[in-house]
Amino acid sequence: MLDKIVIANRGEIALRVQRACRELGIKTVAVHSTADASLKHVLLADETVCIGPPPSKESYLNMPAIISAAEVTDAVAIHPGYGFLSENADFAERVERSGFIFIGPPPDVIRLMGDKISAKDAMKKAGVPCVPGSDGPIPEDEDEILRMARDIGYPVIIKAAGGGGGRGMRVVHSEAALLNAVTLTKGEAGAAFGNPTVYMEKFLEHPRHIEFQVLADGHGNAVHLFDRDCSMQRRHQKVVEEAPAPGISAELRAKMGERCARACLEIGYRSAGTFEFLYENGEFSFIEMNTRVQVEHPVTELITGVDIVKEQLRIAAGERLTFRQDDIRINGHAIEARICAEDPRTFTPSPGKVDVWHAPGGPGIRVDSHLYSGYTVPPYYDSLVAKVIAHGDTRRSANARLHNALTEMVVDGIKTNIRLHLEICQDAAFQAGGTDIHYLENRLRVAAG
Ligand code: ADP
Repeated sequence: MLDKIVIANRGEIALRVQRACRELGIKTVAVHSTADASLKHVLLADETVCIGPPPSKESYLNMPAIISAAEVTDAVAIHPGYGFLSENADFAERVERSGFIFIGPPPDVIRLMGDKISAKDAMKKAGVPCVPGSDGPIPEDEDEILRMARDIGYPVIIKAAGGGGGRGMRVVHSEAALLNAVTLTKGEAGAAFGNPTVYMEKFLEHPRHIEFQVLADGHGNAVHLFDRDCSMQRRHQKVVEEAPAPGISAELRAKMGERCARACLEIGYRSAGTFEFLYENGEFSFIEMNTRVQVEHPVTELITGVDIVKEQLRIAAGERLTFRQDDIRINGHAIEARICAEDPRTFTPSPGKVDVWHAPGGPGIRVDSHLYSGYTVPPYYDSLVAKVIAHGDTRRSANARLHNALTEMVVDGIKTNIRLHLEICQDAAFQAGGTDIHYLENRLRVAAG
């Protein structure tokens, strides 16, 4: 097993990775910015290294500082968590060239799947169904662009090949708006992602977001851990996630999962990963792959009993998967609520001191959070402060447990979106299951009058 690793992240995911390490007897080095010296995992780490000032660019995105921290502490590997450098192929390459293990896929696979055009291309070759679209970058020639959109059929969506985090996308409903939208998206993509390449897809109007979790060991073994439904979104950001996705037949689930696992072998994938799909009219269409652990991984852990982060660590140590596809079963249902430090009405971030923190409990409740009473949420980073995950025999019981847990939870001193989550638990359409990706925004619009 690995002896000591650097956790190159912060907040709840850094703590999650640290917990997995401690179970496996791996020592941890917490690297942190000057704003994060009192983070829970920093206080619990075997060693700590301050890597820079609060802005992420100078700390959590500072590659030389993170690699130096691994050098001075004699760590053997680096876990990137999610966000920050987790999907940066150059970082993975530099980590490996410096003699450390990058806990994730090989750099060239991150690069292949990080470009959404090459990712779709690879998936098509692997027999994974994709959203119909431009099959490559949008051409320069204006007539060709117009013809392409006409062939695909309006509405279309222009997307940045290097995009992420729900940014770098523009929906076009008619020919009159197309060329201007392409120019604008190219400009934004160049500025935001350093890559102006854009592509075109059919814009699906009422899809659900359903994704498949995979694990591959780099020794020719790959399995899927079934699916998650992450359709409850605001501004293309997930708010609630659940596993398995409601209303998907066992046959279709198995077929799609197997295709994803097979695709892993074809692209030389290693570690944990997620294939994201839009699901509409009974069909799955691939949109992108996330080559890292995801925020919503706990719902899958609760229904399968597989510890995804421990598997990442074992795989990085060169071990083989200890189970086969047939060993993995779905046990019940799990739902996760992302608790953010934000104003429940305006959604503006609400950093500050947490005067009282009381985590909920009871049967089937898991809380992944770095909060504690007296902790101050800094203003510099993502507003996610806790994940409350409920597991039950049925979807209904998981939802009832989640609702109970949220009523018990206390986060005094900062504003949070707990009230929104209570409303979602009690929402009739959510309770019925299978709402599309626009449902939450429409509901919020109506509520705001
Ligand atoms: P990102 O990497 O920024 O998350 P994705 O390609 O995963 O980008 O898309 C994010 C979200 O944008 C999806 O979950 C969906 O809500 C919406 N979206 C993306 N492509 C389409 C499409 N072709 N039709 C409809 N909605 C889309």
